[in-house]
Amino acid sequence: MKFYITTPIYYLNDAPHIGHSYTTTAADIMARWKRLKGYDVAFVTGTDEHGAKIVAAAKEKGKSPQEFVDEMSEKFKDAWKLLNISNTGFIRTTDASHIKNSQDIIQILFDKGLIYKKKYTALYCVGCEKFILERDLDENGCCHDHKTKPQLQSEENYFFKLSQFQEILLERILDEKHKEHIEIQPMERRNEIIGKLKLGLDDISVSRATLDWGIPVPFDKNHTIYVWVDALISYITAIGYPAKNNPLSDFWPADIHLMAKDILWFHCVIWPAILIGAGLAAPKKVYSHGFFTIDGDKMSKTIGNVISPQALVDKFGVDAARYLTVSLIPFGPDGDISWSGLNLKYNTDLANNLGNLTSRLNKMFQKYFEGNIPSVKHNGVLFEKAEQVLNEDFAKEMDAFQIHKASDALQKALTLINQQIENDAPWTLAKTDMEKLKECLFSYIQSFDLILLYLFPYMPVISQKIWDINGAQGNLEEIAKDYFANPKKYKDGFSKAGAKLQAAEVLFPRIQ
Ligand SMILES: [Zn+2]
Repeated sequence: MKFYITTPIYYLNDAPHIGHSYTTTAADIMARWKRLKGYDVAFVTGTDEHGAKIVAAAKEKGKSPQEFVDEMSEKFKDAWKLLNISNTGFIRTTDASHIKNSQDIIQILFDKGLIYKKKYTALYCVGCEKFILERDLDENGCCHDHKTKPQLQSEENYFFKLSQFQEILLERILDEKHKEHIEIQPMERRNEIIGKLKLGLDDISVSRATLDWGIPVPFDKNHTIYVWVDALISYITAIGYPAKNNPLSDFWPADIHLMAKDILWFHCVIWPAILIGAGLAAPKKVYSHGFFTIDGDKMSKTIGNVISPQALVDKFGVDAARYLTVSLIPFGPDGDISWSGLNLKYNTDLANNLGNLTSRLNKMFQKYFEGNIPSVKHNGVLFEKAEQVLNEDFAKEMDAFQIHKASDALQKALTLINQQIENDAPWTLAKTDMEKLKECLFSYIQSFDLILLYLFPYMPVISQKIWDINGAQGNLEEIAKDYFANPKKYKDGFSKAGAKLQAAEVLFPRIQ
């Protein structure tokens, strides 16, 4: 079973911020989840390094474009290392293999008569790096995103016959039974794309005559490939396609392209058309999440409210930063992120629930059984209840890419244990019924271990740490894979009788 997920390749005019880490962490959680479920996963992120904005940004810093992108690209690699992102590939659009493969695909389209040369005059927004229609401007004649007036540009460019693909795209998007169905999520975004598609498609320019910082068009070296086209093609060149005898190419088509909603059109329309035109398979699913504001404002350097991955890690630690970023707001619609919201979520989910259960349970084992797992028959009632929440709520939400709801399911399962402790009152049992106390504590720890398997994609290091504290043996990720392949094998739990719990440190100190 193969699974291929991508983030967008990030444009290098900006250093990594929470917008990038939101998408990348979400993709990482999905990749880790699929690995646990037995999939062979390819997970690619990368950087988009061509275009006029890069040339301008490099100039401003007194650097050559190549020096500039080499430096900026490292910042993204560092950010993903910091956040423990498990990407299997990192594509740079200045990589030699990407350049060659992009040229191959453009050449195929040209040979098939899908690319032609035409003189073109239109409004161009440098901020968007795209031609923009008058009807898409605001009341002042400015680009909605950049608040600048686009310039009238006249160029002789190569055009791709996008207009030929309206019907085939509509058919594949609308027909869920189509064997090459393109799924778009969430539903409202899908409907927007369909509505716009039904209005018809214009051919699009795929080259620039005036910009050197790009990939040369293979059949006309006076042109470079339009940066957007070059960026989209990276999804397939990142896994080595279309090279022959390349085992990675089995991962194509991509299972999920993940992104923010502003670039959905490129991914749902232009990209599939290029692929279909070149005789390649289109992606199976395109999933967009919303935009978010920071404390009610648009994130911007001018306002000074940009949150970097480093700032999140400094405040919460790596695993908590991962967890909080993706679980604070619903995945799909727009939302608002604030430091106070993050602090509150941290205290509620991590300090009070996950962290508290770890230390509470640990103290009881130390107090009543000198830190040892007692030998007792597993009463599986609580374990089965937790299993039900995890297999039904958690798994269902994860598979629908509702990772914030899946994190709610984790909290629900943790709360089950906390409630059971209140009901059983082990502190009373310690005076009246030692056998029952053994049974209760044993069932708490096994149920807690079970939750850790599902927590792993969010918090790969802390879940292993709690696993060790709980006296469970071995590598959590390996055991999780085995559990998902054969859950019955583990009905008696994970921490074995006689194993010793480790002393618990405070994992999530409360934030005041
Ligand atoms: Zn713009």
